[in-house]
Amino acid sequence: MGEEEERRMAVCTKCGSAYAARIASDGAVQPIGSRDGCRCGSSEFEVVRESTDAARREE
Ligand SMILES: [Zn+2]
Repeated sequence: MGEEEERRMAVCTKCGSAYAARIASDGAVQPIGSRDGCRCGSSEFEVVRESTDAARREE
């Protein structure tokens, strides 16, 4: 069991869709159930931090 994975929320950097994602030990973000990336075609995701931080919006 050398692989350590974290589960986090991640959002597509292009369209903003949120996914549950696995964060590999090397930092790679892979949306669960969406191996090919986002529906919009983008494969770049931004990991959302703690939900407490995510709830704090700057407006
Ligand atoms: Zn997208």
